[in-house]
Amino acid sequence: MRYDLAVIGAGIVGLAHATLAARAGLKVVVIDRDMRANGASVRNFGFVTVTGQGQGDTWRRARFSRDIWAEIVPQAGIDVLHKGLVMLTHSPGARRVIEEFARHPMGEECALWEPEQVRAALPFAHGNGLSGGLHSPHELRVESRTAIPKLAAWLEETQGVSFRRGVAVTGIVPGRVETALGPIEAEAIAVCPGHDFRTLFPEVIARHRPQECKLHMLRLSDPGWRLPHAVMSDFGLLRYRGYHVCPSQPALAAQLQQEAPEILADGIHLIVVQSADGSLVVGDSHHYGATVDDFAPESVDRKILDLARSTLDLSRSEVVERWVGVYGSAEQDAFIETPDPRIAITCVTSGTGASTAFGLAQDCLGHYLGILP
Ligand SMILES: Cc1cc2nc3c(=O)[nH]c(=O)nc-3n(C[C@H](O)[C@H](O)[C@H](O)COP(=O)(O)OP(=O)(O)OC[C@H]3O[C@@H](n4cnc5c(N)ncnc54)[C@H](O)[C@@H]3O)c2cc1C
Repeated sequence: MRYDLAVIGAGIVGLAHATLAARAGLKVVVIDRDMRANGASVRNFGFVTVTGQGQGDTWRRARFSRDIWAEIVPQAGIDVLHKGLVMLTHSPGARRVIEEFARHPMGEECALWEPEQVRAALPFAHGNGLSGGLHSPHELRVESRTAIPKLAAWLEETQGVSFRRGVAVTGIVPGRVETALGPIEAEAIAVCPGHDFRTLFPEVIARHRPQECKLHMLRLSDPGWRLPHAVMSDFGLLRYRGYHVCPSQPALAAQLQQEAPEILADGIHLIVVQSADGSLVVGDSHHYGATVDDFAPESVDRKILDLARSTLDLSRSEVVERWVGVYGSAEQDAFIETPDPRIAITCVTSGTGASTAFGLAQDCLGHYLGILP
């Protein structure tokens, strides 16, 4: 059997490539060394974010991806758990940044909320220092742990995509994928290896000088209220590159560095999303290295929890689960390389893959490999 497209990696980036190629009628095989999805794609918030994504390619890819997510979730039986985002601000400096963002073209359809509007929408948000909020209608949230397996099952059962699981890819030449269990022939090959930068085309990937980034994540029990939207706060205005277009952003960065150096030292910012059973997924932190360890110091979790508790009423919640996740990190949010006209490598090197995977896949298969219009 010769495939039109072989995809290496069954994380969200590989599945996005398979989705768009299968939709165009191509014969697709997805190959992954793991028996089930176990990487960044099932460890994240499932937060498909548009507002705050970096200006240019990342924002464009996020808007495209959000539309594809919205189209396929009902077909694949995936629930959207909430829509939109509220970025809460707790100082005049942070408020200035969201005011500027709301006036920017990327702030399209976003609304600036006064503290009273925040309290009306989120009565469980603490009032201490609250200076406003930016409401974005663009986002959606899925439960990645179940959504990724459902997407793969839908591709296999209804879209004709073949899956080869538990199969490590050891080498690639034009037209052929070498695996631990023998070769697989394909016209075009898309390598979507997550943060495995050393197995396939290491010399090509090394040009981007990628690192690993480790994140701490927590699940808290049902707080007794329901989130209408995902919640973020001031520190997100530093971490999300889209807000860097705001002239006041550097002043906010300096202010937060002075007020909370211990939060920034662990790369912490707040995202809170809610699951169907009412539990909250809360994070996260960022620690970088050529190879990060799997250890998760309690001191980091404590800082994330303190930030969450100072933002929302979590008096009825307790920690019920903890995990770490790893993604690739580099100067650019993502890159696509073509070591051969029939082979492409797509790597996300930032915490944006759930939000941009379909846009990357469209660019890779359309522009770089030329197998989609
Ligand atoms: C804790 C955490 C929170 C995050 N939050 C968000 C968020 O809210 N929103 C957002 O947009 N993004 C978020 N991200 C980032 C996002 O999850 C990643 O960018 C995305 O999942 C990367 O997907 P991927 O398919 O490239 O990688 P992965 O999910 O790591 O999948 C790569 C797959 O390739 C396989 N593979 C690699 N090499 C080979 C080989 N040689 N042979 C066979 N198989 C191979 C691996 O087994 C793996 O299954 C978060 C990430 C983490 C860790």
